[in-house]
Amino acid sequence: MVAFAQDLIRVPSLNPPGEAYLEACEVLGNRLKARGFHVQFIRGEGAPGDSDRYPRWNVIARREGRGSGACVHFNSHIDVVEVGHGWTVDPFAGVVKNGLLYGRGACDMKGGLAASVIAAEALIEAWPDFPGAIEISGTADEESGGYGGVAHLAKMGLFSRPRVDHVIIPEPLNKDRICLGHRGVWWAEIETHGHIAHGSMPFLGDNAVRHMGAVLQAFETELYPALATRRTAMPVVPEGARSSTLNINSIHAGPPEGVKGLPAPVVPDRARMVIDRRFLIEEDLKDVKGEVRALLDRLAATRPDFRYDLRDIFEVIPTQTAEDAAVVQAVALGIERVMGKRAELVVSPGTYDQKHIARIGHLHDCIAYGPGILDLAHQPDEFVGIADMVESAEVMALALSQLLCCRQEA
Ligand SMILES: [Zn+2]
Repeated sequence: MVAFAQDLIRVPSLNPPGEAYLEACEVLGNRLKARGFHVQFIRGEGAPGDSDRYPRWNVIARREGRGSGACVHFNSHIDVVEVGHGWTVDPFAGVVKNGLLYGRGACDMKGGLAASVIAAEALIEAWPDFPGAIEISGTADEESGGYGGVAHLAKMGLFSRPRVDHVIIPEPLNKDRICLGHRGVWWAEIETHGHIAHGSMPFLGDNAVRHMGAVLQAFETELYPALATRRTAMPVVPEGARSSTLNINSIHAGPPEGVKGLPAPVVPDRARMVIDRRFLIEEDLKDVKGEVRALLDRLAATRPDFRYDLRDIFEVIPTQTAEDAAVVQAVALGIERVMGKRAELVVSPGTYDQKHIARIGHLHDCIAYGPGILDLAHQPDEFVGIADMVESAEVMALALSQLLCCRQEA
């Protein structure tokens, strides 16, 4: 398992730009082909970022069992985020030290992918006549929205019944936790308008930054306090994310940044702010948007010359798999048998590829479960514990044996 995870880490499948996806797919595909899987390579053609220089390759492998049963699918993303600074080991060497495997993607999520492959192989070896089918996929672009990856495959029907019944995504959520889903997302851009003039006579213009300041002030006095009072029944971790949250992602106005020399003396005639609103399953996206629009409309009604535009950028509906879903029960049982403790059921503060499986594939028997500590993802000296990989592979193999034999009706 460690050797295979090292093979995966040694392919620098950086996203952006989407480097070496085919090579990463081949490492996985060749491994599974040798174990009797039918392997398909699928390019996310036309997806954002897909080009002949950076094709969005995916691999999906399927092994049929004997006789009827359920299909269990393990989905891992093969992309990793940029390396960043502060590493003390080579991020693409797959260094093993003191029981830990280091590398970019070791935790998020090549360690989990390797664990799922070993779990499937162990099950096939122990139970050659297993019923149903096992699928394992390696997909592109999770770190940039998953459009060339899981979303593309889901549109082809590859994440829907009757082909697939249960999906486990081995993201690093800790080996004793089952992640049921995630909060919602709304990204939007607010633009305030003004009137350009010479900076020495600002009274002749209308400064868009001051209008944006009024928006910020309304956020501070009205929106943030309102969001803080809203609590979800979703078991989101960390605890702070059980409220609605809003991050101001960026603000831009005035002359472009990075230009050498003195700035031009002008009154900015427009200011733009990108907001990143994470909402709860109890909230409606329409109300989430309406709340911001109402605040802006109030400013337009009360503040002289206030004009604005509000533009949607991106949205994701919250999703949460039922606690009594078969995949949740099977993994919980595995955790109990391997670790002797009850699984903790959690929800992720951010989104991951489960969104596409729920919305496009209409498949709601899906969770994230895998080794690795979430906080280490995207950090320098990212690592995964080898003992944790072994334990979660055992859990995955037990869950597989539980799920394969009994097909549930949708
Ligand atoms: Zn991930």
